[in-house]
Amino acid sequence: MTDHAETTVRRIMDSAAFRTAHATLAQEHDRTVQDIVTLTQIAAPSFQEETRAAAYLEMAKTHGLTDLEIDAEGNVTGMRRGIGNGPLICVAAHLDTVFPAGTDLTVRREGTKLFAPGVGDDTRGLAVLLAWLRALDAAAIRTRADILFCADVGEEGQGDLRGMRHLFQHGRYKDRISAFITVDSPDMDRIATGGVGSKRYRVTFNAPGGHSYGAFGVVNPMYAMADAIARLSRVTVPMRPKTTFSASVTGGGTSINAIPNSVWTEFDLRSEAPEELDRLEQEFFALIDAAVAVENAARSTRNGGVTTETVKIGDRPARHTDESCELVRLAHAAIAAHGFTPVFEASSTDANIPMSLGIPAIKIGSGGTGGRAHSLEEWIDVEPEVSIRGMTAGLATLLAVAGISE
Ligand SMILES: [Zn+2]
Repeated sequence: MTDHAETTVRRIMDSAAFRTAHATLAQEHDRTVQDIVTLTQIAAPSFQEETRAAAYLEMAKTHGLTDLEIDAEGNVTGMRRGIGNGPLICVAAHLDTVFPAGTDLTVRREGTKLFAPGVGDDTRGLAVLLAWLRALDAAAIRTRADILFCADVGEEGQGDLRGMRHLFQHGRYKDRISAFITVDSPDMDRIATGGVGSKRYRVTFNAPGGHSYGAFGVVNPMYAMADAIARLSRVTVPMRPKTTFSASVTGGGTSINAIPNSVWTEFDLRSEAPEELDRLEQEFFALIDAAVAVENAARSTRNGGVTTETVKIGDRPARHTDESCELVRLAHAAIAAHGFTPVFEASSTDANIPMSLGIPAIKIGSGGTGGRAHSLEEWIDVEPEVSIRGMTAGLATLLAVAGISE
């Protein structure tokens, strides 16, 4: 890390205004925890974020933002104006969770731990953005850059980053954002500078079907699908750049005594490197064709053979932000200055979209610790010391990037 980044961060941390901001984060920690609980208990499955978005808009109203609104895609955006004519920095956390409507979202508290689906990914991030705004207001901090605060939709799974796509490709700020920070998951020791690319497919295997006893001997699309999945399981992929695949969700068939006429599976393919992802995708298509050919040769196609229908249900670009760029150096310096030991990693987050457009973008943590994200046992620890130190490190990052006007 260069002296320049460390000096910038040190100057911010030594300022009276920053100390006031830090003190505010500490004083208001209980309120921040309460915000986490309130927001966690409002369901927000991807594509059904409206209720949580409306609640967030209300909560954000007293926080010194202008142009606070819900955009055409459902993102909550609000501007914290800088001194004028500066660049625009966007800081975001995502509204949606992977949990379907009807999931019990009641937060269970044990000591300093909070247990609930979505509590860490990324509800804590949403609350931290509000905490930062209150700290900035309390310290009367004016930044050189304008800061766009964004609680966005569609980060998870089939949301396919729709909130970010809208913000960067169609929204009113689309050509203005010069750096992007997403606050996602608690861990401060990891800074994501790489965007893992993914391609997701739903493959439906169709065939004429028939009575399981009477029509025995005709092709069965389930066998072709099972063979395709088994073939996928044997594909070799590199450890570095990390490249992965999964057969994840499946269904089909109508009755125990019928050869199915339609079965389907959803597949997730990922890589840190675009060329590896393309290679895996080609292999994936080929193994499906091979499995179908084997089934059509193994049994009768007198009423028709097995055919497939492949629908792309997700496409996230694999790109990365150069670790020598200003944004990354400042984030590393600010987080390290708060006693963390940040390492760089690649992950799939909202930062993928700006990265794909060549805009410097990173993911940082929301502070504290947590685990079991995407499971019903998801938890975070809101123990004040680590939590406040983490939030303060994040705020220092934002201010180092946005610049304080003195
Ligand atoms: Zn997340």
